Order: sequence, then C-alpha cells, then structure tokens
Amino acid sequence: MNNKKIIMANWKMNPSSQEEVLRLTKGVLAQRLPKNVELIIAPPFVYLDLVKRNCGREIKLAAQNISWAERGAYTGEISSLMVRNLGCDYVIIGHSERRHKMGETDEMINLKLKAAFKVGLIPVLAVGEKESNDDIIKVLTQQVKSALEGIGTSEIGRLIIAYEPVWAIGTRLTDTPDHALSTALLIRKIVSNLYGPEWASDLPVLYGGSVSEENAVDFIAQNGINGALVGNVSLELEKFIKIIKAAEINAQ
Ligand code: PEP
Repeated sequence: MNNKKIIMANWKMNPSSQEEVLRLTKGVLAQRLPKNVELIIAPPFVYLDLVKRNCGREIKLAAQNISWAERGAYTGEISSLMVRNLGCDYVIIGHSERRHKMGETDEMINLKLKAAFKVGLIPVLAVGEKESNDDIIKVLTQQVKSALEGIGTSEIGRLIIAYEPVWAIGTRLTDTPDHALSTALLIRKIVSNLYGPEWASDLPVLYGGSVSEENAVDFIAQNGINGALVGNVSLELEKFIKIIKAAEINAQ
C-alpha cells in the first residue's frame, strides 16, 4: 500500500432518499479532493449505482456487505460479483452491527472475505472488542485468525483491517489515539504471526468509532494508522469534508 490516507464513509442504512444521496455525493465532489487521500463511500446497496454514476473517478465505491454465497437461491442476498460488476472496489466485511445485530458469525465472515477476494474486491475487515475492558489480545486474535482461515499470501496483500471498538461505534465515545495506535500494531503483530512480517508491515489499518471533524486528526496523524472509517458523521457534509482535509494534511 502507498502512503495515502484512507477515508471511508459508512452511510449505514441512510439516507432515505435519492435526493439526499445526490446532495451528499455532489457536496463531496464539489470540493477539491486531495490526491493523497483514498476517499471511499459505502452507501446502501440500492444507491450504489446512483453514487457510481455521480461520484466521478476521485471517489471509490464500497458495498457495506456481501453474501457469502456466489449465486443462486438466496432470496434477498447480494453477491460479491454483483457489486464488483456495478463498479465497487471495496467491501466492508464483519462490521460489528452485522456481527451483533444480524447474527453474522466468524464462519460467515471468513466465507465473505473469500467471496470478496475471488472477484477482486478489496475487503475492509472490521474487528474490535465489545466492551472497553474486554481482553483485546484474545478478542482480536480470535477475530483476525478466524476471518483469515484458509486465505493465502496471494490475497492478504489486498486486505485492509479496520479497528472498530464496538463500545465506540455510534456512541460519541472514542478510543484514545495512543490506544488505537497500539491496537493497530497489535493487529499487524497478529497478521505477522500468521503470514510473516513483510505482509504485516504493509497492511493498512484504519480506526473507526465515533470519528468526528474534531477528533479525526488525532487518529489520522498517527503514522501507524492509515485512515478512518467514519459512520454517522459521514452523513454530515460540512463535518465530513473537514475530516477529508485532516487526512490531506496528514498524508505523505
Ligand atoms: C461505523 O459505522 O463503522 C462507525 C465507526 O460508526 P460511527 O462513526 O458512527 O461510530
């Protein structure tokens, strides 16, 4: 990975109209978008095509989820190939809202990662402890190991991991930048133990969890943190633009 900072907007199950999608997308595009920032928007499936047609080349597109199944009788599911063919480069996999609210298991997450790699999508694997006093080494080792089961070095170079402590998501509580950085190093150590140090040092690790226009710089400025996964605040145009600018200043 190069030294670009990554800013990924997770719109979650928002907004509720195409007009609002266009307002957000065009509002971001109206800015001078920095070349040293990889800007990615993850809208709900139903808006992927609309965002794609209006986002120009500067903004990359991500799905928020994919099915672990390739094709066939899976009513309501969306496959990795469908979103790839629609123009997505990225997909979020294992978001805590899917793990904890939609019953997504480690096994499903592993299959979804494989489905993403198979069609050339770059997966952004979300991991994080549920409570701030959880045993973070144990939780993250288990999440990363199970997610990467059976995935080889030919794929690992295309992986991004987002450290998203669950207690910080949508709560306006954030991790401290120091702890987020040490956790990014821990994640690289886990990957290093699995694949070797050369794969771990290049692994982009993002921080996510109540990132705002006020605190983004504290995380993004850390050398070992490659950017931010932004949820609720990515729907507030002015604030989101400030986060993009913070990334521009701190990218190399
Ligand atoms: C997220 O959805 O990944 C997230 C981090 O949400 P928020 O920024 O709202 O905490």
